[in-house]
Amino acid sequence: MNTSFEFDLTAQDGRARTGIFHTPHGDLHTPLFAPVGTQATVKSVTPAQLEELGTNLILANTYHLYLRPGDELIARIGGLHQFMHWDMPILTDSGGFQVFSLADNRKIDHDGVTFKSHIDGSTHRITPEKSIAIQENLGADIIMAFDECAPPYDLFYNERALERTHTWAERCLKAKTRSDQALFGIIQGGVYPELRQRSAEFITSLGFPGYAIGGLSVGETKGETYTILELVDALLPQDKPRYLMGVGSPADLVNGVLRGVDIFDCVLPTRLARHHVAITRMGRLNLANAGHSSDAQPIDERCSCYTCLHFSRAYLRHLILAKEMLAATLLTIHNLNTLLELMRDIRQAIAAGDMNKFSSEFMAKWEHSE
Ligand SMILES: [Zn+2]
Repeated sequence: MNTSFEFDLTAQDGRARTGIFHTPHGDLHTPLFAPVGTQATVKSVTPAQLEELGTNLILANTYHLYLRPGDELIARIGGLHQFMHWDMPILTDSGGFQVFSLADNRKIDHDGVTFKSHIDGSTHRITPEKSIAIQENLGADIIMAFDECAPPYDLFYNERALERTHTWAERCLKAKTRSDQALFGIIQGGVYPELRQRSAEFITSLGFPGYAIGGLSVGETKGETYTILELVDALLPQDKPRYLMGVGSPADLVNGVLRGVDIFDCVLPTRLARHHVAITRMGRLNLANAGHSSDAQPIDERCSCYTCLHFSRAYLRHLILAKEMLAATLLTIHNLNTLLELMRDIRQAIAAGDMNKFSSEFMAKWEHSE
């Protein structure tokens, strides 16, 4: 198996591209959407169900697994793949995003971050070296540099955070010891084009096997997101995968692909499923609404997922009102299928040179259901 983390571009259509990223646990066909398994599980579905849906990359969270059950325990048991019974590629984040989200319970300095656990209040410290050590214990195929995601509109904060993010990226590279993991660099800089440009130039100069665009979808407008994506797209090397972190509505996926993004992840499909909301290519559908109480239709007539093949909206609403666990499972299966199937169709459209037609047809229908 090719474990060199090479990225082969297979087709290009405008800025959109298809490619194959080679990892030790198999090839990733991009552009792709990765479901999030925060606690080493994609909530409410089994690995077998994920596999049946055509998932091939899963994201797990370093911060959560470090605190519980502990990265050293996971390493002793054989690493994350074995621990969660997922034989295909896994990506871990650096823990930075969660740590910085702790607001009052963390203190940042030049060397790292000291924070209090949200579980038991105990004090911990993560430095770039520690983040890499944890991620090496977890053993994912793709690991992330420890970065600082600043609030998007705070210029002064973004300037300071960017300096730290850049120094920490160099330290992460130096700290890395495993050759079977690809470390991705992260580009920050808020909504400020000059900071994003500086970040893209510096991070790409370090020569990572892939690049993430961080700090988007954290409060800025769609227009600002697209401006930054277009700017960064032009500065990133064509022959490395680009990962847009934490973005995952159907329209966001289409718009990201149109601007050169290869990898997406988001809690949206699994989180919405637990809040009774189905995602379709036209928008969202809240199945708890009384309007669905005697509706014999599936969530989406054109969807071929297990849920839509066998269950009515009336049944799903019944499960929700009866607080049955199966509601979350069936909605998660449907929501993930919607995004994974969308990405398969996008890959086909790019290969056929039809991405513009595909995206305009998609956008014409989007949100018509709401
Ligand atoms: Zn479905």
